[in-house]
Amino acid sequence: METAEIRRRWLRFFGDNGHTVVPSAPLPFDDPNLLFVAAGMVPFVPYFIGQESAPYKRATSVQKCVRTLDIEEVGKTTRHGTFFQMNGNFSFGDYFKEEAIRLAWQLSTGPRSEGGYGLDGDRIWATVYLDDDEAIDIWRRVIGLPADRIVRRGMADNFWSMTVPGPCGPCSELYYDRGPAYGTEGGPAVDEDRYMEFWNLVFMQNERGAGPAKEGYPILGELPRKNIDTGMGLERMATLLQGVDNLYEIDETRPVLDRAAELAGKRYGGESGPSAAEAAPDDVRLRVIADHVRTGLMLVADGVTPSNEGRGYVLRRILRRAVRSARMLGGEFTDGAVLPQLLPVSRDAMAPSYPELATDYDRIAMIAYGEEDAFRRTLASGTTILDVAVSEARQANRPALSGERAFTLHDTYGFPIDLTIEMAAEAGLSVDQDEFRRLMSEQRQRAKDDARSKKSGVSSTAAYRALREHGPTIFTGYETLETESRVRGIVRKDELVEAVGPGETVEVVLDATSFYAESGGQIADEGVIIVPGSGSEARLRVLDVQRPIKGLIVHRVHVESGELRTGAEAVAQVDPEWRLSARQAHSGTHVVHAALREVLGPSALQSGSYNKPGYLRLDFAWSRGLDERTRTDIEETANRALRRDLPVAVRYMPLAQAREEGALALFGETYDAEVRVVEIGGPWSRELCGGTHVSHSSQIGALAITGESSVGAGVRRIEAFVGLDAIKYLANERALVAALADLVKVPPAELPDRIESMIIRLRNAERELDRLRAAEVLQQAEPLAQRAVEVAGVQLLTELVPAGVSAGDLRTLAVNVRDRLDPTRPAAVLLASAAEDRLSFVATVNKAGVAAGRSAGDLVKVLAQALGARGGGKADLAQGAGGKPGDAQAGFEAVRTSLLSPAS
Ligand code: ATP
Ligand code: MG
Repeated sequence: METAEIRRRWLRFFGDNGHTVVPSAPLPFDDPNLLFVAAGMVPFVPYFIGQESAPYKRATSVQKCVRTLDIEEVGKTTRHGTFFQMNGNFSFGDYFKEEAIRLAWQLSTGPRSEGGYGLDGDRIWATVYLDDDEAIDIWRRVIGLPADRIVRRGMADNFWSMTVPGPCGPCSELYYDRGPAYGTEGGPAVDEDRYMEFWNLVFMQNERGAGPAKEGYPILGELPRKNIDTGMGLERMATLLQGVDNLYEIDETRPVLDRAAELAGKRYGGESGPSAAEAAPDDVRLRVIADHVRTGLMLVADGVTPSNEGRGYVLRRILRRAVRSARMLGGEFTDGAVLPQLLPVSRDAMAPSYPELATDYDRIAMIAYGEEDAFRRTLASGTTILDVAVSEARQANRPALSGERAFTLHDTYGFPIDLTIEMAAEAGLSVDQDEFRRLMSEQRQRAKDDARSKKSGVSSTAAYRALREHGPTIFTGYETLETESRVRGIVRKDELVEAVGPGETVEVVLDATSFYAESGGQIADEGVIIVPGSGSEARLRVLDVQRPIKGLIVHRVHVESGELRTGAEAVAQVDPEWRLSARQAHSGTHVVHAALREVLGPSALQSGSYNKPGYLRLDFAWSRGLDERTRTDIEETANRALRRDLPVAVRYMPLAQAREEGALALFGETYDAEVRVVEIGGPWSRELCGGTHVSHSSQIGALAITGESSVGAGVRRIEAFVGLDAIKYLANERALVAALADLVKVPPAELPDRIESMIIRLRNAERELDRLRAAEVLQQAEPLAQRAVEVAGVQLLTELVPAGVSAGDLRTLAVNVRDRLDPTRPAAVLLASAAEDRLSFVATVNKAGVAAGRSAGDLVKVLAQALGARGGGKADLAQGAGGKPGDAQAGFEAVRTSLLSPAS
């Protein structure tokens, strides 16, 4: 049974059983502890912990997951992928244990002709938590599973929590016995390869307290409303139903594996298990490739781009591991590109379930192939650095590369740490990983502190949740800049307070507000909140506005005067000038985006944006820099759209309809079922957006692009000024040009020609100067050659030439003098010159001298040692620097003495 069919049957089965089908959330996930969605229940967490109430009682999904913890297992076990799909069914205070077990059993063993998976029930085993007699009873009585196929397991295996205080509960897992060919008898506790876990049922029935993450924490009592969370590995079910050995051999990954084997000229043997790495390393590599290529594809498709931090780093590591594994296989991969050969194969295998992979492939390919190119360049430059580090470590007799080296390689050259480890191991060295990890976590902490200080310090706390219970804040800012409302709550240092006085900075929640909270790239509104009060009115300056939890708008304010009380009447007043500029900037961002796509094509898709009054920037998928003409083209297209005075319209519609109409959505963003669509000129610019906009494009005024740069592999950033700021920017440029024209005394239009000719003249003059100086220096050559003396059969000249001769000129002079001496007999010339009370020196030996065993390098070393300086070089030419000019003669004396001792 194809994987796509297993997926369809899943959704149909649970749909028919009253579950709302919820689409997969994008892989990137915003949580301090989690980079990606790692389980099907993750997007539903707010419902499980009671932060929000679920809009349905039952739901089902096929969720894309990435587990980086499993990366080391890939290719070695039969059942771990870095990317996989978790099929889940969820109950929020609706059905519980018995129904969950019945549904799982029914779908697993139901006949294929009736939409089931048709597994043999006699080969299914169940595990339950130690004392969960209720579950055991259901398995025995309701399902009829014999007692010897029900296994009790401890907290580590069969008890679930989110590792922090909150809901928790026992699990029951379903295993399938794949038969004696796959391992020893005895059930899941004995062999997890033969008995493969495919489904985990979590019964959330208790509340846990603080304590160790996994085991030994206190269980506080029963939840008032019990929930069900289950996860079935789609790939694991496919492994079972397709009768293959491991999950890299199923229909969604096998084509990549086969193509890689073909190009590498290897035969895939299909060995797996703990000893596979040694027994068949190429098989492991092929499985790693099959897994990683797909994970890379899915991550890029969901908007992740390679970088040296966070999610981007995981992607980088995965793509680079895939490329390196392929190169180690050899064959056509020895020099040939890897991803252009394999990524399309993965796309074709995955597109039946994810059609966006095909429609969006140009963009995906540009980013992924760009990363492979970057990796090639990295390997070229980084390998040299690594080689140097390796030979240094060897010379110093150290068994390991320092963590600092590994960190530099990672940070500056993009070498994934496991690549460094692998390559160091090939040279017989280990890597100081503790030190490396310490440096990494320092860097990460810096980044986190950075990000935090950028935010307003608004944090999600119990206080907000309490305020949210009274319903969402009503946002009136689309229609009006002034709103009369009431102070719902005041938060100071995470605590609700009744009242605050002047001079304090606190957070305020109103029932309704005109203030736009920062989101979608648009920064928060500025303005004041006035509280008329009974006596003197209070005036609050709004510093920032955020939405720390869904539906709640929080103003961070400074109380400028008066007293602020919970329950008081309040008027929110957004600064109209500010808002107008903010609208111009946000609409300007949409216009630039549309212009980009018109000029560059539809794959130039926005991946992030930021706008504030007068300024905007937009990051978009593109792998090359834009030339001047293209930039001008984009700017003109944008400004023409302003002149056409396109109407700006806002419509609300279901997400599906918006998608159908081609509205652009941002990657990594989860949208509600009902979305807001902003159009400029109808379909010309159609985006999902919650921002504030002008009502006609001409109100944007003007757009001036100020720069375009790279912000990571495959991502470019374009920046522009908007409205009055655009005009000011252009006026500044004009003033600059006028000042320059005045300086060189030509009309502005002639500036480029004039400056170019000035540069050429300057360059010629410098060259002429160099030539004259060299000629002058060389004039000394003949008189110097005359002064050579005979020492130990060598024509020797040692001379301190007048100060101010550059090292380059000194070298030219020495060689010139040497060539004036008798070439048939050994000759050596040593010249020194002082610059800023420091010597530079050169030695050169002619061919006859080198043949006689003399070496310029040796002479320079003797001189350097006598001077306390540094130097070295080859037998015919060497140089050095350091030492005091006053010591030069003594140094030359040392050289003469050394010549008298026999040549080596
Ligand atoms: P295992 O012990 O095999 O690593 P797990 O206990 O980590 O599994 P759960 O967190 O319970 O698994 O996830 C639920 C289901 O998701 C599992 O029963 C399995 O079918 C699937 N699953 C988990 N991790 C992976 C993975 N890395 N690759 C493929 N499927 C997975
Ligand atoms: Mg696991």
